[in-house]
Amino acid sequence: MSRSISGKYTGLLTGIILLTGISILLINLHYLEDYSEQSIHNSQQQLDELMRQQQMSDAELMASTLAENLQEAVYHYDFSGMAELMRGLNNSGKLLYTYIYDQQGNVLHDGTDALTHFGKPVHQLLPSGLGPSLTRQVVKIDKTIHVAHPISSGDATFAALRLGLTYPRAEQQLTKLQQQLASDERKLRSRILVTSLGVIAVLLLITTLLMVQVSRRLLRPIQQLAQRCRLYAAGDNRVSFHLGREDEFGELSDALDHMKQIITESRAEVEKLAYLDPLTHLPNRRMFAEELDSLIQWSERHQHKLAVLFIDLDEFKHVNDLAGHDVGDQLLKMVAERLQSLLKNLGEEIDFPVPESLLLARLGGDEFVMTLPAYKRESDINSIAGQIQNTLEQDFIIDEVRYDVSASVGITLYPEMATNSSELLQQADLAMYAAKYSGRKRFCFYQPELNHQMTHHLQMQQGIREALEQQKLFLCYQPIFNLDTGRIIGAEALLRWRHPDKGLIPPGEFIPVIEKTHLITPVTRWVLDQAAKDMQKIRPMLDQFKLSVNISGGALLEQTVQEKISATVEAFSSPGHRLHLEITETSMMENIDDCSRVLAEWKKAGAAIWIDDFGTGYSSLNYLHSLPIDGLKIDKSFVQAINPGQPSQVIETIITLARSLGLDTISEGIETQQQRQTVLDLGSHFGQGYLLARPMTLDQLLTMLKQEISNASV
Ligand code: C2E
Ligand code: CA
Ligand code: CA
Repeated sequence: MSRSISGKYTGLLTGIILLTGISILLINLHYLEDYSEQSIHNSQQQLDELMRQQQMSDAELMASTLAENLQEAVYHYDFSGMAELMRGLNNSGKLLYTYIYDQQGNVLHDGTDALTHFGKPVHQLLPSGLGPSLTRQVVKIDKTIHVAHPISSGDATFAALRLGLTYPRAEQQLTKLQQQLASDERKLRSRILVTSLGVIAVLLLITTLLMVQVSRRLLRPIQQLAQRCRLYAAGDNRVSFHLGREDEFGELSDALDHMKQIITESRAEVEKLAYLDPLTHLPNRRMFAEELDSLIQWSERHQHKLAVLFIDLDEFKHVNDLAGHDVGDQLLKMVAERLQSLLKNLGEEIDFPVPESLLLARLGGDEFVMTLPAYKRESDINSIAGQIQNTLEQDFIIDEVRYDVSASVGITLYPEMATNSSELLQQADLAMYAAKYSGRKRFCFYQPELNHQMTHHLQMQQGIREALEQQKLFLCYQPIFNLDTGRIIGAEALLRWRHPDKGLIPPGEFIPVIEKTHLITPVTRWVLDQAAKDMQKIRPMLDQFKLSVNISGGALLEQTVQEKISATVEAFSSPGHRLHLEITETSMMENIDDCSRVLAEWKKAGAAIWIDDFGTGYSSLNYLHSLPIDGLKIDKSFVQAINPGQPSQVIETIITLARSLGLDTISEGIETQQQRQTVLDLGSHFGQGYLLARPMTLDQLLTMLKQEISNASV
């Protein structure tokens, strides 16, 4: 846990005061010690000196009194008088020795009855340095006072006296006094120490109290603000920072309140970004999932049904590719608006439990999803899905250009199909995919079987991807004949897939699957590449050989396919060697404007354009004359419907139509001589079919051509 500022600074200040106090104390004690040592030393010296002077004057007085008294007895050599006088010596100290000596320094009397030292030179009996002085002399050596005093009569000195004295009691007294002094000094010192410590302690106490008080006053508002900040950070939006103070803290709290307001606003903005699609402002996938969850709960509580509709625009990619992303974006916005107003209208009839704005979302790209809560009958959903398609099929006009849009819709129902949002969404998506797969512009309800079908499709797609990488695709060629001469005029390239486990898979199985995906693009590019390579081998064999390549509607408008076609047209374009492009009616009609534009370009570059499987689609005859086409391939279903003795009206009509438009025809799927003859009689001069030749490998085609050349030359 972090320490609070108040605690930290109180500690710091206390430390500083403690340190300063102790330093002052130590310095004080140091000087005090010096001072008391000095003063004690001085007093001891003074006492010593006082004592010495006292003792010396006492001894001198005693010696002078004795010398005066002894004058008579010494003069007359009265030894008993001398002894008497010396014995009568009375003083406060202790007499160590008494010597009377003559002018030569020899002892006359030593104060004893036995006169032990008589006649000895006195200096031998004295401590060194002291001699037989005949004048007055007082010295103190160690604790003894040594006094010399002349014994004279008038001016004549005839002897001298020496005394040695100690004052043991006085010395004792002095020592005691000095000890007293030292102990007093110690006491004083400890008293000062105790007092200083006390002062420091009081100081500390006062500081701490002061700091606590200050920190309470100053830090409490900061602590309060910190506490509120923590609450706010933890997500409590009700917190107010307002402290109701006039000072700097008041300003700070107001500033924090202001900041909170800004954060709240930008949070709302971020939330909006996280939950709304920036282009259409519809809820995004995330918000949709949350809304769907709560709608499911609501439906469960109220025992209501719920439908999820997955809406995907058909061929929106081409709008983006051809008109640009800005137009694409505008179109998506318009789609969103139309769907919203549709929901608004529905809201007037149905009582939605949530605002309509929450029922529509954009999942990304051209995918929208709509939820319809509380519907009564499945037919209601049918009708709404129909309305969605109708509203989107109305022309979109952007910058005065008309855009044709349609939608595929996948629908799933709660609680019949699933009871959780992610599963419902997945099912609706799958149903939409199925609607697309079955030809777009339609809606499809989710069925459990769809899972299986879609898995199969996905496997197929994966297989084709691998086949492309591992070179498992190859081309077969089915010759096309001039029915009048029976000579080959060209061939149609037909794609084959050699599956590692399943063997040869016919294109009828996989082309429709990949046509629904963008995989058709690389596959078409591969076919064009391969056809161009093979053409290099065919070209020397037959002049004017025409090679047909099938181009699916899905690949037709792809930029990379267009580029590849242009390159292939160029590679083929020696006179008479032509690339023929076969495009089904339906794929042409799906995007008639763009189609006629690109077809015209290729035609200009030298390619021939054929409508494949003619008669099976819903081509509008009106468009036929405006499309830059060269001919029609009459679908094999009509050729095979030819019955002996029965008129073939459809074929006849197609041929008449072609002729009126100046177009050639090729009859596909000729299996019998009779079919061959009938189409020829009706005026179709070119044909293709098992009767004439089956699809074959390139080598077989080359052999066949060689054969034909040698036959012709015979
Ligand atoms: P399609 O373009 O109509 O090609 C003619 C189909 O009819 C070929 O089937 C051919 O083998 C078959 N056929 C030819 N003569 C007869 C006959 O006398 N009787 C019968 N019953 N059938 C005959 P295939 O090769 O299975 O191709 C089927 C379809 O796959 C093609 O129909 C075409 O739509 C598509 N396809 C084939 N190759 C490609 C390709 O490279 N690209 C694209 N986009 N589609 C391709
Ligand atoms: Ca064809
Ligand atoms: Ca055909």
